[in-house]
Amino acid sequence: MTNNLDISRAMKIQLGEILETLPDSPEFVSGIRRAPARHFTLTQKETELALKNALRYIPEKWHRTLAPEFLDELLTRGRIYGYRFRPAGPIKGRPIEEYRSRCIEGQAFQVMIDNNLDFDVALYPYELVTYGETGQVCQNWMQYRLIKRYLEALTREQTLVVASGHPVGLFASSPQAPRVINTNALMVGCFDDQQNWHRAMALGVANYGQMTAGGWMYIGPQGIVHGTYSTILNAGRAKLGIPEDRDLTGRLFVSSGLGGMSGAQGKAVEIANGVGIFAEVDDSRIQTRLDQGWITRAVRDAAEAFALAAEYQQKKKSVTIAFHGNVVDLLEYAVANDIKIDLLSDQTSCHAVYEGGYCPQGVSFEERTELLKSGHAGFKEMVDTTLRHHYELINTLTRRGTYFFDYGNSFLKAVYDAGVTKICKNGKNPLDGFIFQSYVEDLMGPLMFDSTAPFAGFV
Ligand code: NAD
Repeated sequence: MTNNLDISRAMKIQLGEILETLPDSPEFVSGIRRAPARHFTLTQKETELALKNALRYIPEKWHRTLAPEFLDELLTRGRIYGYRFRPAGPIKGRPIEEYRSRCIEGQAFQVMIDNNLDFDVALYPYELVTYGETGQVCQNWMQYRLIKRYLEALTREQTLVVASGHPVGLFASSPQAPRVINTNALMVGCFDDQQNWHRAMALGVANYGQMTAGGWMYIGPQGIVHGTYSTILNAGRAKLGIPEDRDLTGRLFVSSGLGGMSGAQGKAVEIANGVGIFAEVDDSRIQTRLDQGWITRAVRDAAEAFALAAEYQQKKKSVTIAFHGNVVDLLEYAVANDIKIDLLSDQTSCHAVYEGGYCPQGVSFEERTELLKSGHAGFKEMVDTTLRHHYELINTLTRRGTYFFDYGNSFLKAVYDAGVTKICKNGKNPLDGFIFQSYVEDLMGPLMFDSTAPFAGFV
């Protein structure tokens, strides 16, 4: 057993065995969303290390060509993606029999990986980001090529080990063992903080996998419609006194985000027969949901959004409205005009709050992308100011009867990090929890969160 885990005994595949010639420089299809530049902050020594880490995949004969290219990617995009190694053309999850492997699991994983990188599925396909602003399949295209080749070679007597996108090798195992063991985003001890995390990603040694991007099993927002529907319906039943046999008819749910997972919110509200307004700063994501039919209407004016919502609430009919703009602008309007919001949540990507996951007030989506690229020194403060304002607006609305809940997007923690200690139950730090509940508490009830409950320690 110990021998099986010995890295020196793993079966290894090198990129040089797969590629005879260096692929051509890539051409980027216009109209495909690109990840914003992640601000470059590495020191010179760290930059050298990042280059070494990327070049470890590359046969030495190509180092001279690729070292400057990788350096340019690092300086301009904040990461080395190895664009040149992305196979040209569209990537799609094809029928399983079209993939080569020595076991069906090896074929299945390839379908899943390619589906996660499909232009029609992935958020930033060229940067290997499937969803959630930063959730990647693996860190770079060299890893992609190697993982695919390992999966072709995989047998039912082997296990492929992948650490943050880096394929460690094929280890001898048994048919009963997992075919792939894949870990992402592991930071240990004193390195487990935002600064070291970003450094590790820029160095090419850490991958943020979100839930199903790095786990290779993203099935799009349809995979989360049911959970979102149950969550908002239960929030209505638990907090608004809606009887068990009724739905959200005539009720207004306001939230933000029409992205990877947040994009499910419109469909979920429609199934619950409610009225929903969703703020979204990125026009392209609104268009995706309109094309899908998961959003009924898109408007640019908060007054129009709330007027339309009121009309449908009165008619007791469902409508789902995309507000093209910042969620804070939308809530400002609701507060100023004393509009009653029944349920309120947020699905901006606050787990990556300073990397583009949360757009500051007063700048468009395109401007935030430019600010990220130039590493604008004031960007963090702009985000923090907006978060603090967002918190005050939520406070006002909840005082007026709105029920607000966190949607597992780290919003409460982001507000705390922005300097709002009064969001903590103890007024100092999050150790005793936050003053607003999370959606899981609404869904699961007190059992898992009551500190006197038997399972509390395992949550
Ligand atoms: P995403 O990045 O694809 O979508 C978020 C959207 O918010 C983007 O389209 C972005 O343009 C928009 N946005 C950002 N700032 C905004 C602002 N100020 N105003 C209006 N729109 C703004 O991410 P996603 O996959 O949809 O997930 C969103 C977040 O929700 C993530 O943090 C995710 O982890 C969390 N989430 C958690 C669960 C769970 O089960 N725990 C479920 C769903 C979502």
